[in-house]
Amino acid sequence: THNLLEVENLQMHFPVKGGFFRRTIGAVKAVDGVSFTIRKGETLGLVGESGCGKSTTGRSILRLLTPTGGKVIFENEDITNVNGKRLRDIRQDIQMVFQDPYASLNPMQMVGDIVSEPIHNYYKNKNKEELKTEVMDLLTRVGLPEEAYYKYAHEFSGGQRQRIGIARALALKPKLIIADEPVSALDVSVQSQVLNLLNELQDEFDLTYLFIAHDLSVVKHMSDRIGVMYLGNIVEVADKHSIYDNPMHPYTQALISAVPDASKMGEKRERIVLQGDVPSPENPPSGCPFHTRCPKALDRCSSIKPTLKEVKPGQHVACILYD
Ligand code: SF4
Ligand code: MG
Repeated sequence: THNLLEVENLQMHFPVKGGFFRRTIGAVKAVDGVSFTIRKGETLGLVGESGCGKSTTGRSILRLLTPTGGKVIFENEDITNVNGKRLRDIRQDIQMVFQDPYASLNPMQMVGDIVSEPIHNYYKNKNKEELKTEVMDLLTRVGLPEEAYYKYAHEFSGGQRQRIGIARALALKPKLIIADEPVSALDVSVQSQVLNLLNELQDEFDLTYLFIAHDLSVVKHMSDRIGVMYLGNIVEVADKHSIYDNPMHPYTQALISAVPDASKMGEKRERIVLQGDVPSPENPPSGCPFHTRCPKALDRCSSIKPTLKEVKPGQHVACILYD
């Protein structure tokens, strides 16, 4: 296939312990049956409110967490349970850019060392001068001066620190980058610069992105296709134009209703305001996970859990209205 990544029915349930003996008394179903594919060279955006499971999905793919169910297939290899050397090798190919460049970089470490570290870990015998040239090239490529090599992370602004984080993620020449809210901690004024950099790097280095964000305009700017998550499930996946111009799942319709419609000169669409709160993933509703808030819910929505179906070419929706 041309898919770089295939995620099949991914589950990440965290045990809940309680009582005197700290027995498992339940589970937080952070990710509860997520499926999607990413073609080589494309960007799949993953959107949803905080707590919907999008970051957990990203971390499970990188195996920072071991999924409790389902499969992750990377370059046609099932990597769900690989360990040891094979996992180490795969981690060269899949890198992560984190949300908070303040937390993910050691402020007291020299930038040259931060970016060299992954290369050094994998290629112990690499010539020191070659390594230094390589790292300086990376720094200039992400828009930092060569002198940045000798400075400390705390000497840089948020946007510059995220550039350092991006250089570090690129150091091992990965194929897939999981970007988890990479600009949400940054000033709005520098967000688009970092997004544009990610776009340029994608073409230059043949990268494939899983781009996780809650900001719909950021996701629209970056993605080819978009997956919409709600309470540990993907409720709709389609190309970005279908998602923004013709959302089909009632949850997607509500999300998109808050975004100004470009075709109507920025005029807002009719806003769909959802009632109530997102239920706890420890005790998700039966049937359709969205039925407690869905403006279009039918009686049977509380007993039947809809699965993703291709309703229009390339547009997959999990809702019984389209069965
Ligand atoms: Fe709404 Fe029912 Fe569709 Fe769920 S299955 S989104 S509750 S109409
Ligand atoms: Mg792109």
